Amino acid sequence: MSAGARRRVLKGFGGAPGSASTVLRPVDLDDLRRAVAGPGPLLARGLGRAYGDAALCAGGTVVDCTAIDHLEIDESAGTARAGGGTSLARLLEAALARGMFLPVLPGTAHVSLGGAIAADVHGKNHHRDGAFGSHVERLTLVTSEGTRELGPGNEPELFWATVGGMGLTGVIAEATIRLRRVETSRMRVDTERVGDLDACMERLRAGEGRYRYSVAWLDTLARGARLGRAVVDGGDHASLSDLSPKQRLEPLALRRPARLGVPVSSPVRLPSRPLIEAANAAWYRRAPARREGAIRSIRAFFHPLDALPGWNRLFGPLGFTQYQLAVPFSASDVVRLALETLQRAGAWSTLAVLKSFGPGDEAPLSFPIAGWTLALDLPLGVPGLPEVLDRLDEAVAAAGGRVYLAKDGRLRPELFPVMYPRLGEWLAARRRLDRGGVFASDLWRRLDPGLGKGNLSPLNLSPLMEA
Ligand SMILES: Cc1cc2nc3c(=O)[nH]c(=O)nc-3n(C[C@H](O)[C@H](O)[C@H](O)COP(=O)(O)OP(=O)(O)OC[C@H]3O[C@@H](n4cnc5c(N)ncnc54)[C@H](O)[C@@H]3O)c2cc1C
Repeated sequence: MSAGARRRVLKGFGGAPGSASTVLRPVDLDDLRRAVAGPGPLLARGLGRAYGDAALCAGGTVVDCTAIDHLEIDESAGTARAGGGTSLARLLEAALARGMFLPVLPGTAHVSLGGAIAADVHGKNHHRDGAFGSHVERLTLVTSEGTRELGPGNEPELFWATVGGMGLTGVIAEATIRLRRVETSRMRVDTERVGDLDACMERLRAGEGRYRYSVAWLDTLARGARLGRAVVDGGDHASLSDLSPKQRLEPLALRRPARLGVPVSSPVRLPSRPLIEAANAAWYRRAPARREGAIRSIRAFFHPLDALPGWNRLFGPLGFTQYQLAVPFSASDVVRLALETLQRAGAWSTLAVLKSFGPGDEAPLSFPIAGWTLALDLPLGVPGLPEVLDRLDEAVAAAGGRVYLAKDGRLRPELFPVMYPRLGEWLAARRRLDRGGVFASDLWRRLDPGLGKGNLSPLNLSPLMEA
């Protein structure tokens, strides 16, 4: 074991049993190059916000990138150059202080720049601005064979294989991203309560041309005619004229969130249904039937859960998963099926979010495709949940959809190439970057088509669907 190396059990954000690896924490590029030159299997890790096993490498070396966190903003170019371990929270603070904003923000700011690129993360503005990778100008990738500079115009196949490549092409040491100029640090938000899933989908589609950001929070316990009732938010960056005279005194202020925190893990195996029901119903009823032009802080609009650090521990010792699917707009019945099937199985979701995606980007393993995306937090201890999710996976795959690898810890390998039909293209690019196959993750060992498990073609899917 080299100096500074520590043996640790790492977990995903969902808290399911993790795996032990040797953890190295390089502090600069030279240190990182030395870490990557060691024997495999190797994997980069950022802030550990992937829910399942994407940032784990059992028995191998995990390269914790969080100390590679330099940050430099070029105001005239409107870009930020930062280390792969720099958190989006820090990037956001620094950009806002100069009247700029990140092009894409996921549902938590506690994500590293490397992790955001490796998962090609999306935000509430995907229908307008695409995923994170579309805003990356260049990146520095450290592989077992050396350091490469990649960009959309410089070795594009290797660049796009790294965007969304889940850390399996190398370690992103640094990247330059384009920022968006904003007048204020606040959001102007319209909110509406809608009574069922059709109305919810209709509002989200109608809002695509009107709002840069939109999202629907579903009450997952509403059934029958009320299935899919939701609170729909549509937002844009507030302009100076939207602010009150007092707010205008500090238009770019970003208040630090109150650190409430969940100090200990819940001893309870499963959050109870009445508790979840009450929380869902209260959320729905508390929202206004319709309100226009409310001014909200960036944190309240984008990252409400970040105000409660450690909330993931409330799920108890068995942990939870986030099931996130994407299907084409023509397959909206799969969204309904998912909600109904999980209700019937007694898998009560504490959080359910529906969004529409615009067209996907160039990256072969990027998750977003034009259509619907539904994300549900589900406690892992629900009896029969694995089988229910397996069947949902089949319905998603048959509809031309996929599940999100950054949230996954359980997909069966045979569905991987069906959900990600450009996998072959990605594998060819990965072979050019990592000829020795040094980079690996627990997710990859589970799904790797080269291990002979993931070789089901789309044509063989029908027997699975009928079973
Ligand atoms: C509360 C919450 C809300 C979320 N909301 C969203 C959302 O709205 N949209 C969305 O798209 N995602 C969302 N996510 C998922 C999250 O954005 C991704 O999992 C992201 O990859 C996490 O980044 P990280 O730094 O924590 O990476 P980790 O979890 O540490 O790693 C994730 C993957 O990135 C790779 N990786 C990390 N750093 C590097 C690097 N420097 N070089 C190469 N590969 C690297 C790892 O190998 C791994 O495969 C959410 C997660 C949470 C917990």
